Amino acid sequence: MSKSLPADFVLPTVLRPEFRPCLRYYRNSASHAAEHALLLLQASVDQGYWYPGFSRKVKAALSKTHRKETELAAADTDKLTSAGKQFFFARIDVEYGRFECTLKYPEVAATRTPFGQWVAVFLPVAEAIAKLDATRPKPVIVFKTLSPTVVENLGRTLGLDLVSVEAPEIRWDLVEGVDQSGKRYSYYTPTILWSEGTVHHSSKFCVSDAGNHQCEACGHAIKNSFNWVPLFGRDKSGVAHSLWTGKDCAKKLFGCEVTGEAEFRKEGA
Ligand SMILES: [Zn+2]
Repeated sequence: MSKSLPADFVLPTVLRPEFRPCLRYYRNSASHAAEHALLLLQASVDQGYWYPGFSRKVKAALSKTHRKETELAAADTDKLTSAGKQFFFARIDVEYGRFECTLKYPEVAATRTPFGQWVAVFLPVAEAIAKLDATRPKPVIVFKTLSPTVVENLGRTLGLDLVSVEAPEIRWDLVEGVDQSGKRYSYYTPTILWSEGTVHHSSKFCVSDAGNHQCEACGHAIKNSFNWVPLFGRDKSGVAHSLWTGKDCAKKLFGCEVTGEAEFRKEGA
């Protein structure tokens, strides 16, 4: 699955104050990577959801804290209570740079101990990440208006008398999932609201003689069942024809891009 950043993406240059204290837990190249990761996080927070691919990069870079810096905080977890078991695990969380675990000990952030400081420093980061994880993007099909000539030529190729090509309305439902480590996450799943009377499979391209599903705009075989963009064309008598188009073709032929992490699956493909 290829993901790309929007063309107008600009990485922030100044780290916001609540993220900056984290940097003292990193050394050398890990420190540069952590700073870069925090800027990627910051850009995503400003946007309201993760940029494609950032979530994994940010979490990987931030987990590489410097051993010496975390040892002190980990040792300190022993002094917090004799009831112990929770703090045995707290110690592992600190040692392994599991910053997201600070969400389990928010009350400790107020204490002026090394463990309390570790929690206080990483809590804003963990909260920002948890919030972004919970709001995966609602993808959008960005569609440019096509010139009548392009539409006419396309229609001629497909054997249809097309006057327009458009993106259909899509309903997005937020669905809860559980990842491999048992962590909950949510994502949007699409339902395409084809307008009433839409005719399917009317392009002369649909399934090739070899049995491959074809891009309905150009006839290319599309082997990846998620690599589709749903579009439709309207003919001279107003009838809508669905046009399942390969992702690359949608971009090349129509300047059409899908933002976010949307994947459309063509029925049957
Ligand atoms: Zn195509």
